[in-house]
Amino acid sequence: EAKKNGRGRYQVFAGDMDDLLLRKRKVEAELRKALTGGGGIKLAYQPVFATDGRRILGAEALIRWSHEVHGALPAAQFIAIAEERGLIGELGKWALSEACRFAVGTELPWIAVNISPMQLRDAGFAEQIASILKETGLDPARLQLETTESVLLEHNETIGAVITALRQSGVRIVLDDFGTGYSSLSYLRRQAIDKLKIDRSFIRLLDEDRSAAAIVKALIELALALKVEVTAEGVETDEQKTLLVGMGCNQLQGYLLSPPLEPGQLLALPGLPSAVPERSAARA
Ligand code: C2E
Ligand code: MG
Ligand code: MG
Ligand code: MG
Repeated sequence: EAKKNGRGRYQVFAGDMDDLLLRKRKVEAELRKALTGGGGIKLAYQPVFATDGRRILGAEALIRWSHEVHGALPAAQFIAIAEERGLIGELGKWALSEACRFAVGTELPWIAVNISPMQLRDAGFAEQIASILKETGLDPARLQLETTESVLLEHNETIGAVITALRQSGVRIVLDDFGTGYSSLSYLRRQAIDKLKIDRSFIRLLDEDRSAAAIVKALIELALALKVEVTAEGVETDEQKTLLVGMGCNQLQGYLLSPPLEPGQLLALPGLPSAVPERSAARA
């Protein structure tokens, strides 16, 4: 195959190596600029629904960066670069402030913000959250922080203390992408988290793969038994929704129900707490 493509292929590969480093440096510089007032960074909000598929329980903030030349870049990609280049603290702080400022004036019961493991390793993180909550006026009970399993397995004292302080202040801790890492069953046992989000990779296989279905069912039962909330992420089909509801999962998120939305689009949805009464009152 290498021969078939000849010299061209090799050069493309060599070029890619240089390119990658150059691209990362460029992305870093541009991200820095965007963060210091250059614009182009914003948050999209994906609602989480009750089993009726209509009532909105809360929303997850997902960062979006529209690059002036390359257009929309995948979040996972530029977040990885931000982590690598020491920018994640600033990026994360921006996302937290922006999400809290948005949520405070809305009827959203809660807002969830994704947190990088690097943010949780910072001993000052709980204080940073406290000051953002104070500045924006958001009730701590309305803030959920989503983090992945890996970070909880570090047996890092700082992380443990930060999570304890956050939970004591009323902020909720959510285990994102649950099932993809080494399951943090000890965290569940110690009731150190408030919610599990079952990873999309399991939900995707739900209607075609018996083992995936058995795992999802077991995870939901585990969460319910421990009185930890449970959300299914990446729900794309009616079949998946029906199966999940049958298994007792009462929080659903995914393209079937709604993609991530602009703030205005989210607030225009009919399922927010005040939306229904307000409308019937207006009609009466
Ligand atoms: P995540 O937190 O697990 O978010 C779910 C991802 O799945 C989002 O991708 C969302 O747009 C996408 N998604 C939602 N519903 C569906 C569905 O039904 N089908 C499919 N195929 N995809 C669905 P996105 O926005 O590209 O974000 C990717 C990841 O980047 C997030 O995964 C999260 O880990 C990270 N991320 C996003 N925003 C932030 C942030 O502000 N800070 C940090 N540290 N990480 C963030
Ligand atoms: Mg998430
Ligand atoms: Mg997730
Ligand atoms: Mg994910």
